[in-house]
Amino acid sequence: MEEKSIFEKIIDNEIKANVIYEDELVIAIEDINPVAPIHILVIPKKKIATINDIDNEDEALIGHIIVTAKNIAKDLGINQNGYRLVFNTNDDGGQTVYHIHLHLLGGRKMTWPPG
Ligand code: AMP
Repeated sequence: MEEKSIFEKIIDNEIKANVIYEDELVIAIEDINPVAPIHILVIPKKKIATINDIDNEDEALIGHIIVTAKNIAKDLGINQNGYRLVFNTNDDGGQTVYHIHLHLLGGRKMTWPPG
């Protein structure tokens, strides 16, 4: 069997994480190496390696990931100032964990273009 990714281990409770939100479809955790004052990862429980691997049947799930991030941004009080949502994809996109996750970054002014 394929080795579990770090996020599968967190979903399966084999590794601890600071869980911000969880429901039947997603888990949201604090990033272990934050690059902004608020850095949360919204992760689907379904294993999808990269954004390239999304199927049509995943449309609602992807929407749910984004709605979850929006709700967390509001709960944390950064919705009015603003925040950034990012899916890194494959090597050029800077992806390091091959189980899709949406970065919610906030609490400081972001720059553009990103590095
Ligand atoms: P990416 O580079 O887009 O694949 O993002 C992977 C993210 O997962 C990075 O920001 C890492 O800091 C984060 N990360 C890796 N391991 C853990 C962990 N055990 N708990 C929380 N976040 C993690």
